[in-house]
Amino acid sequence: MRPWEKAIRSVVPYVPGEQPSGDRIIKLNTNENPYPPAPGVQKALREMDGEQFRKYPDPAANVLVDALSDYYQLQKNRIFVGVGSDDVLAMAFLTFFNSGKPILFPDVTYSFYPVWAELFGIPYEAVPVDGDFHIRPRDYRKDNGGVIFPNPNAPTGICLGLDQVEEIIKANEDVVVIVDEAYIDFGGESARSLIDCYDNLLVVQTFSKSRSMAGMRIGYAMGSETLIRSLSNVKYSYNSYTLNQPSLILGAEAVKDREYFERTTAAVVHTREKAKLRLRELGFTCTDSSTNFVFITHEKVPAQEIFEALRKEQIYVRYFAAPRLKNYLRVTIGTDEDMEAMYRFLESYLK
Ligand SMILES: *Cc1c(COP(=O)(O)O)cnc(C)c1O
Repeated sequence: MRPWEKAIRSVVPYVPGEQPSGDRIIKLNTNENPYPPAPGVQKALREMDGEQFRKYPDPAANVLVDALSDYYQLQKNRIFVGVGSDDVLAMAFLTFFNSGKPILFPDVTYSFYPVWAELFGIPYEAVPVDGDFHIRPRDYRKDNGGVIFPNPNAPTGICLGLDQVEEIIKANEDVVVIVDEAYIDFGGESARSLIDCYDNLLVVQTFSKSRSMAGMRIGYAMGSETLIRSLSNVKYSYNSYTLNQPSLILGAEAVKDREYFERTTAAVVHTREKAKLRLRELGFTCTDSSTNFVFITHEKVPAQEIFEALRKEQIYVRYFAAPRLKNYLRVTIGTDEDMEAMYRFLESYLK
């Protein structure tokens, strides 16, 4: 090893789903929305010219924060925005989890949490979900340095009721509790309604899934003034200009079209409920997903074999080689046509 190599930080990175390209592929592996962004987004994009790229973007992201503030009827100083919720969550880890005590999150969950904890030197404890993959609120009643969990959870799709979320918050009023609501628009009740009651509660959401804008990288957090101010201070100590100019403008346009948003999320939910029925007929067991994906296992055929067979057909789903997940597949809800193509193949393959 050369001397300078000894000073290199070595990390085990998060592995994102693959982004294959091609016309004939059916992509059900990264929980993208199958529908395009709202028409207003496309219109604003056509009207954009290069001149506005000459200057730095507004570091306070006012157009976007204003749009979210109107939409949620929430004061601007209670909203923080970032480059996807991954950026918001990373900032939140850096800002709030500094007590030296282990933070808690479920053992089956978004696999970025342990990666950030390792990167920032935050001790953590992965709390096992039960045999049916349910988070048990009573398991979060112990001394800790903070709590984070997705609701609905990933990759299981299972949602806690708002009363159960509140049970976790109530048991943890001395630390910051983060609820990662990447999928809440597809089912379940947002903990946003609790941020006035608990000033240690941060609710994080994203434009990547329900607003069809994964490529724009827009995420946000809502919470007490103190939490939001602390996040902003860390952000300004790291990078003043996080969101780029097109993201600010196009994100604001997306938020303005409530009707389109409600229509497309309802379409995804409709296709998801049909998927649960169709997949059961094909011998799969599904968790009761409240998201834009289903989490499935087959009674006879190992998940990895099905994953590879689908992949050969250019149908991409997600397989996790983790101990508790290795016989499961996570299938993003696509258009009805995408899903029909997958059922057709599975029907003949599983016969
Ligand atoms: C997709 C996802 C995110 C990250 O989304 P961004 O694209 O970075 O906004 C965060 N948490 C969970 C649970 C997710 O599934």
